Parts: sequence; C-alpha cells; structure tokens
Amino acid sequence: MGQDKQVFDNVLDLVGNTPLIKLNNITASLKGNYYAKVEAFNPGHSSKDRIALYIIEQAEKKGILKPGDTIIETTSGNTGFSIAMVSIIKGYQCILAVSSKSSPDKIDMLKTMGAKVYVCPAHVSADDPRSYYQVAKRLHEETKGSVYINQYFNELNTDAHYHSTGPEIWNQTDGKITHLIACSGTGGTISGTAKYLKEQNPNIKVIGVDAYGSVIKKYHETQEFDEKEIYPYRIEGLGKNLIPTATDFDVIDEFVKVTDEESAHTAREIAKTEGLFVGYTSGAAMQAIKQLNEEETFNDNDKIVVIFPDHGSRYMSKIYSDKWMNEQGFFDSVNAEKAETIEF
Ligand code: PMP
Repeated sequence: MGQDKQVFDNVLDLVGNTPLIKLNNITASLKGNYYAKVEAFNPGHSSKDRIALYIIEQAEKKGILKPGDTIIETTSGNTGFSIAMVSIIKGYQCILAVSSKSSPDKIDMLKTMGAKVYVCPAHVSADDPRSYYQVAKRLHEETKGSVYINQYFNELNTDAHYHSTGPEIWNQTDGKITHLIACSGTGGTISGTAKYLKEQNPNIKVIGVDAYGSVIKKYHETQEFDEKEIYPYRIEGLGKNLIPTATDFDVIDEFVKVTDEESAHTAREIAKTEGLFVGYTSGAAMQAIKQLNEEETFNDNDKIVVIFPDHGSRYMSKIYSDKWMNEQGFFDSVNAEKAETIEF
C-alpha cells in the first residue's frame, strides 16, 4: 500500500515525521520566531513512540527479542504507552512499573493497551526496593525471556532521537534553526536531537528545561550530584532525582528551571492562544522560553524550535481540571477570579 495515499500496514508506520507548527500568538511579545515540534502527532501521542519502536527494533536485530518475550520498563506513562503499543503489533508481553505521580488517566490507558502495571511510590529514593527502578529490575530478574528497556540508562534512547527527531528538525527548518528548547527527563530527546543538530551546525544553542526539585541543572553546572536539590514536584516526565546516562551534558549549553504553577498556566495558555492541546511539559518548555526572553536570550531573526512532547488529553485530571488547579493553590495568585467563577 502506498503512503502517498495515507494507507499504512499498521500503526507503527506512523511513528515520527511529526509536524513543526509556527507559534503565532503566545509568542507575540517575545523576540524571535518560534516553531513547535508537536510530538502529539505520533500515533501514541508522544515523542516516546520513537524510542519504543527504535529500541525494540534494535533488540530484534540483535536477536535479543523473540515473539512472546516480555518487555519491562519504568515509565511516567508515555514510554509505557508507546512500548505497549509496539508490543501489541509485534506480539510481546508488556510489564510496566510506574510512579504513583502518574495521572490515573495514564495508568488506565496503559492497562487498556494490554500492559501489566505496577504502581510504585513516587517519593522514595531510586535505590529503595519500592522504587519503580528496583521493582522493574526485580521483575526483569524474575521473568524469563524479558528485556528491560531502562530508558534512563540506555544509549539507544538517545540514538533514536539522533536518527529521527534531529534530522527532521534540520530538514523542516532548512537548516536555519538557531535554538533548540527541550525538556529533559531521561535526556534522550534533547541529547540525541542536539547531537545531530550540532553536527550540522555547532552554533545552534541547546537549552534544556528542568524542574525545581530536580538535580539536573545543578549537575550540568557543577558536575556534582547535590541531594539538597531534591524535593517533590508535580510535573511528570521532567527533571530527575538521579543523573541519567542517556543525557549527554556536553551537547546542552544551559538549563532553565521552571515551576509547577507557571508551567501549568502556560500549558493552558498554549491551548487558548494556539489551539494546541498539549501536555504539562509543553507548558514547562514554553514557560522556559518566556523566562529566557526576560534574560534577552533571543534576537528578532532567531529561529527557535521548542519540543512539545505529548498531548493534553493525558492531563485532564490534572492541569486541565480547575478542581485540581485549585487544590494545588495554582489559582490563588495568578488567576484568583477563575477559582470563584462558575462558567459552563
Ligand atoms: N515530557 C514528557 C511528558 C515525558 O514523558 C518525558 C519523558 N520522561 C519528557 C518530556 C522528557 O523527554 P526525555 O525523557 O527524552 O528527556
């Protein structure tokens, strides 16, 4: 069947080749030209489709995976969904250990996609036996014929973006991109994309987005793991309480930290101004851009690409719920009137 007629053999043929969409309104008072790489256009609605497909196909090529084998992963939800989707098409079992910070919608979705889900406490250290890392490791050891994707410590995660996201952005901007802004969780997206782009043009500036409560920015600046940086925060998929080897700190120029509250409001603003219904970390990335503008980082002619990692539908019970926003106190200062108004 021809792809020119938009007929595909299965859903996996639609992974990658996501659009770059110009941001026209939320950027009105900002310097530079902004384009969003909208990863929600992947069939699993996030950038994680790319790594799930790439890593599983690499394992198949190496003869590590056989039909009926089990794929295990720790995940904030998106990677799990993508692995579950790939597993269905390719005939693997899928076991996922997820953080209790993940939204209930995400967990239900994983189960819908045929995955076996273990929900693990979010606020324990990575070496605690209850953490999702340790649970996944144990399940891997106990399950015969299993592969542990281990996205935080798997260089194939970074390679997936080096081979897809990077070249796509280079082609979509005709090589004119000047800045890349991307959230860093495993760091796979930013590192793989940045490595490819800097090979084409070393002058491209790469700015990572980190959360308050995460060690990543401080580690980039000092090469030291500072436990004092760690405290709970609400954004899922961004920042970390450990240093992932999937992050290549050398290709990232600087990190910006964003708050849960401002990121949530900015995500809502993206929907209202651009008609793009995207996830919490897309709000975080856009929030970082606003902060960078306050520091006069950009010029009028700059071509800035921001990665919007996933779709807004995954956050209906969180940032897109007025009730949740109220409970967090996120309407207290910025938007006090919103909390009192009942509108339908
Ligand atoms: N946004 C969301 C919603 C995510 O799930 C992730 C992955 N943890 C990221 C951003 C960050 O991507 P990466 O892991 O490639 O750094």
